[in-house]
Amino acid sequence: MDEQAPVSADYPRRVRYRAGLVGERQRVVHIAMPLACGDFLALCELRLAAAEAEEISDLLGMPCMVCTRVLALRSRTPVSEQARPQIGAG
Ligand SMILES: [Zn+2]
Repeated sequence: MDEQAPVSADYPRRVRYRAGLVGERQRVVHIAMPLACGDFLALCELRLAAAEAEEISDLLGMPCMVCTRVLALRSRTPVSEQARPQIGAG
């Protein structure tokens, strides 16, 4: 079993460190997938232990810029040729 494998790829969760574990500045909200072991693996490759993570349902907090960027890149559906302008067709 690969413990890195996400339990559910439905949608990413928003998680951050619980208060008191790290400085407020590091409590940015990551976009993360839950792992089989209960930990979260953020798009920025930070791994948050289940005990250290707090899940956020609302759009609260300062987003992790790396996670945000990775998510944006991912959601841009790769390579549809239809999206490209047809050059020389005519
Ligand atoms: Zn992040």
